[in-house]
Amino acid sequence: MISFQNIEKSFDQQLVLKKINLEIQEGELMVLLGASGSGKTTMLRMINGLERPNSGSIEISNRNIDQHNLLDLRKEIGYVIQKVGLFPHYSVYDNVATILRLKGESEESIQQKVHHWLDKIGMSASLYSHKFPSELSGGEAQRIGLARALVAQPKMILLDEPFSALDPISRVKIRNEFRKIQREERLTAVMVTHDVLEAVSMADRICLLANGEIQQVGTAQEIIFYPKNELVKKFVKGDQ
Ligand code: ATP
Repeated sequence: MISFQNIEKSFDQQLVLKKINLEIQEGELMVLLGASGSGKTTMLRMINGLERPNSGSIEISNRNIDQHNLLDLRKEIGYVIQKVGLFPHYSVYDNVATILRLKGESEESIQQKVHHWLDKIGMSASLYSHKFPSELSGGEAQRIGLARALVAQPKMILLDEPFSALDPISRVKIRNEFRKIQREERLTAVMVTHDVLEAVSMADRICLLANGEIQQVGTAQEIIFYPKNELVKKFVKGDQ
């Protein structure tokens, strides 16, 4: 479904990604794991065309990304980042509804969908609809960010350290809730994190990046019990 083929990317003189080859299957949750600066976000942003490779190609749904209309493609791809970026002067309801209004949906359908997703993400619509972002905790704002991405019923979702601002208990809760939704909706998900525990607890497969290269791709068990090299071993042990 998402395929990186011989991708290279540099910023100025810095070679950030070297000959990256990776296939992400439909309905899979792939975690891009690596230390700060290893190129995770750059890879993620290539999937929705926010970054372009210097060489190599990216295929989405068996078509080269250059053959996609980027605006149409982005409508199919939810994007959730750590700094949620809610519109401060819009209520929670309007923040989640905006994308549906842009699509021209009827208010009745919008209301049904917004309420459904707010409830599903653990933010009771009756309690939160009318609040403004400044009245939400960091964790609540992150949930709204997730609801806003999910309400558009994307085929894929990209998550860049989406839960990192949360306290440990809320983090585990929202991880589990998201994973449940991702499975139910058969969403293809790519999530960036530097947190090994988060990767292990959520991923179908993990892609471990270091020094601009993929060191290993595998299930959590494979990465932990059968690390391919010293870099993987060290990263997983926490002494990278
Ligand atoms: P983090 O976990 O800290 O977010 P990351 O693994 O996601 O790191 P990237 O954000 O992909 O890493 O960045 C990889 C490297 O590319 C970094 O050294 C960064 O400074 C550099 N880089 C990323 N974007 C740009 C840019 N727009 N201009 C110049 N350099 C950039």
